[in-house]
Amino acid sequence: MISDNFSLMIHGGAGALQHIRREGNESDFMQSMQRILEGGRQVLVSGGTALDAVEYCAVHLEDDPLYNAGRGSVLNEYGEVEMDAAIMDGQGLEAGAVAGITNVKNPIALARRVLEKSEHVMLIGKGAREFANLHNVEIMTDNYFVIDSRIRQWREAQKAGGMMLDHEDVTPQHKLGTIGAVARDGNGNLAAATSTGGIVNKRWGRVGDSPIVGAGVFADNETCAVSATGYGEQFQRTVLSKMVSDFVHFKGMDAQAAATAGINYLVDKVNGLGGVIVIDRNGHCGVGHSTSGMIYGAIELGGESLCHLA
Ligand code: ASP
Repeated sequence: MISDNFSLMIHGGAGALQHIRREGNESDFMQSMQRILEGGRQVLVSGGTALDAVEYCAVHLEDDPLYNAGRGSVLNEYGEVEMDAAIMDGQGLEAGAVAGITNVKNPIALARRVLEKSEHVMLIGKGAREFANLHNVEIMTDNYFVIDSRIRQWREAQKAGGMMLDHEDVTPQHKLGTIGAVARDGNGNLAAATSTGGIVNKRWGRVGDSPIVGAGVFADNETCAVSATGYGEQFQRTVLSKMVSDFVHFKGMDAQAAATAGINYLVDKVNGLGGVIVIDRNGHCGVGHSTSGMIYGAIELGGESLCHLA
């Protein structure tokens, strides 16, 4: 019998978010988050695992051009989309990741194939594409991924001569728009997924934290599931997602305390910019961010879905 004490959280990145308010598409984000969370709920109530739920949510977030993942990903220094993604199963610490990939419609679905159908954790570039072909993962042309607003954003970043996170103006802060999901199913299994186009105007071949186990994603049934967003280099150097899990493991913190402690650590150590969503082994939800805003939604222990653009 599947219990209804499942929990699910999703995020659509962190940043200053003024541009979302200025452009008046706050409600587009809220509706999209709500729809995807409710879809994820259906996966869990109909017996899907935490891994199924995070894959479902990540695929739908990737398909929505509002977010910096899959369709609508930000552009690298050559105006191209290069994507990173990872998925982790808290039961047995199994993980699959892909980095620097092009034309794969749903990088998270490919990451799950890596988890299930290969003996490796991470595939990159052309090898990942070949593996996608081998496993009939859907491929799209460049036009599918590149949307007009990303071209405008990329031109701004090129003019300013810098890299930036997605949800940000060129000044004063930069923007992040990666997507992620964490879940606990009724059987107590935890899972996490993170997927991104990276940061705007990034160097060709740059890989961020999102596909790195322990940096942008982590899940362990004994502690918690974590998905991160922010300046990837800072999350890599602090191994931030594993750090959050360690706060649960060694300090006995719950999801909210660990999320806060993790972000404090990120700021103290590297003056880092970003956020995390966390579900602990008891199904409690937590969120933390050092950016002025973060887009996220949660269903805690089977309750109603609550979305925030804060
Ligand atoms: N963490 C992502 C990266 O550095 C960016 C983001 O979260 O928006 O690739």
